[in-house]
Formats: sequence, C-alpha cells, structure tokens
Amino acid sequence: MRRPRPRVIALTLVLTGAMLIAGAARLARIDPEFRETIYVFGTLVEIEIRGEDRDTAQAATAAVGRMLQDFHTDWHAWRPGALGDLNTAIAQGKALTVDNRLATVLHEGRRLACESGGLFDPAIGGLIGLWGFHADTPPEGAPPAPDQVAALLAGQPRMTDLRFDGARVWSVNPAVQLDLGGFAKGAALDLAGAALRAMGIKNAVLNAGGGVQVLGAHGSRPWRVAIRDPFVWGAVAAVSLRPGEVLHTSGNYERYFEHGAERFAHIIDPRTGYPVREIVSVSVLDTNGARADAAATALSVAGRNDWPGVAAQMGVSAVLMITDTGALLATPAMMARLDPVGDEFPQAVEVVPLPRRAFRPACAE
Ligand code: ADP
Ligand code: MG
Repeated sequence: MRRPRPRVIALTLVLTGAMLIAGAARLARIDPEFRETIYVFGTLVEIEIRGEDRDTAQAATAAVGRMLQDFHTDWHAWRPGALGDLNTAIAQGKALTVDNRLATVLHEGRRLACESGGLFDPAIGGLIGLWGFHADTPPEGAPPAPDQVAALLAGQPRMTDLRFDGARVWSVNPAVQLDLGGFAKGAALDLAGAALRAMGIKNAVLNAGGGVQVLGAHGSRPWRVAIRDPFVWGAVAAVSLRPGEVLHTSGNYERYFEHGAERFAHIIDPRTGYPVREIVSVSVLDTNGARADAAATALSVAGRNDWPGVAAQMGVSAVLMITDTGALLATPAMMARLDPVGDEFPQAVEVVPLPRRAFRPACAE
C-alpha cells in the first residue's frame, strides 16, 4: 500500500482578489467576506460568510459555533451527555426520551444504515470503542484480540434494532451502542446551514475538515473546494459547488494507528469487526450532508467491487473513490464536476457507471 499522508481532506481554495476590494466595500458597511475558524466537534470548522455586514456575519458565526458545540456535547457517544445517557439506557434494556433534534438524527441514521445494507451502521459503537477510535487522539498499542472482536460481533448490533415513539428511543437489542461519528459532521452541517439560512445569510461556506457545505456563491463565481490527495501534499481535483451542495470525504489516511507493519484505519466493516483496507478516500457530492457523510463511510466499507451498488441503494450519484493503490474511480455525475487542479489529474480517472435499476431497500420505519 502506498503510504498515505495524514491530513485534512477538503479545503476551500483561497481566493486572493477578495482582499483588494475589502477596503472599499467597508465604507458601505458591507464586507465582502467574513471568515472565522472555530475549534468545535473535535475539529477546526472554518466559516466564511460573504456579502453581509460584519455584525450580522459575526453574530451568525457565533450562533453556529454555539450550535455545533451543543451537538458535540449532545451527540458524543463517549462523554457525559444525551447520547451517552441513551447508550447507558440501551445497555440496561430501557427506553429514554431524548431531545427532538437527536431523535431526528437517530431516525435519519437508522434509515441511512438500512439503505447502506448495514455497511454504515452507527450501532457498532462497541467495536469502535474496542478499537480505540472513540477518543480524540488516535489509539496506540496492539489491536484488540480476535475473540474480543468476535464477542462484540456476536451481539449483532444494528441501527434497525432501534425503535422510536416520537422522541422516546429504545433498542430491541442491548448490544447496540451508538457512535454517530460516521455521519454526525454531515448531519451537523445540514443543521448549521439551515440555521444560517434562517438568519438570512445567503452566501456562506462551512468547512469542517472533510465536510463542506455551501450556501449561495462566492461573489460572482461558485464556491470551489479541493479534494485532498491522500498520498502526497496537494489536491487530486477541485469541485465547484452549486448553492446548497455538500461535499463529504471519508479519509482512511487521517485517523488510524499503526502496530508493527500494519495500519488500522478508523472505519470498521460491521460484517467482520475489522478496519477497512482497500479504500483510502471516498468523496460524495450531494445536497444532503448526513446522506453524503454516511455514504462516504459506507462506500469505504463496500470496497472496490461493491461500491456502485451501495451508492445506488443510498441514492447518491456523484462519488470519487481513491483506492490503496492510488486508483481514482468516479461516477459519471462526479466526473462531470471534477476539475484538475494543475494541468491534469494525478492519474487517469476511471469512470464507473452506477447500476441503472438500483435496488432501494424499504427502510422507512
Ligand atoms: P471522517 O472522520 O474522516 O469524516 P467518517 O465519516 O467515515 O470519516 O467517520 C469515521 C467514524 O465513523 C469513525 O471514527 C467511527 O466513529 C465511525 N465509524 C467507523 N466505522 C463505521 C461504520 N461502518 N458505520 C458507521 N460509523 C462508523
Ligand atoms: Mg462519513
């Protein structure tokens, strides 16, 4: 396997011209751009707002920062908070009433897990904890013993074990332990984007290391986002995002641990209990962050042969995949949107069509 370089995956391309007009525009109290980076959700989130006066942009950014901080507390599987309480209740075979927002996100997670055929499954928190991918810092030491993995697999935890009565949530299987890490960023950016819109912000980008969500445009041109090359410093391609679009990348080169000659990535195959190996990075372009983020995780698990069927099942059409040998695979919808950053792509992109008649499992509860 080529040695991937650990780094954030998506970045907005820096736009220099904006600085030149800032002075003139300030006279009219409209700043062409307002940019702030906050540390929240265990990552750096860059918020850029254009075309609003500074006070409005600052207030909106602060509100989004508070919102993301609340999600971090409420949705964290491993710290005291609403989700931690729910995990305790599930292990005890009890139901718990959570806030409506968490209930909605869990409901969405259940549907996405079902549509992915269980390849994305936030109910495998026990396995994620066992591998040590629950902490903010990467795990160290040896991987877990095979019998520990087997014991957790034997419990067959599935999101489809969750039951809802409004915001009252329980599981028919006490082995379910929820870890929302596979789609929380996407779900959070959906809500943050909606909040910005509700505050009247028309043009903004939220960039949360691997997840990008845009509102409107960057002045007269679209917001442009680069997809990181997992192997060397730089980008494999850029995408111009249309208003309301999101781009989520699951990178197996960002969080992992090494033991001996082996590298263990933070995405776990729920069928085997072991980390995925074949796929190094998956980017999904969509209009729904939760779905894009969940699909990026699911397609990493699906692997090189099976991913097109899973993408079709989950209803995503624009996918870029980078394998451990450095191959670039893209769906026709993604290919149409990819721009090389230099003269050309680092290597030829293989276009992989999705199955035309997609099997869509019935996943409404
Ligand atoms: P990134 O953290 O790079 O955005 P992902 O969106 O794929 O990548 O999220 C990875 C996280 O998702 C892991 O740290 C873990 O918390 C969780 N996870 C790992 N494997 C799965 C899986 N098969 N289904 C759902 N969540 C998973
Ligand atoms: Mg994901």
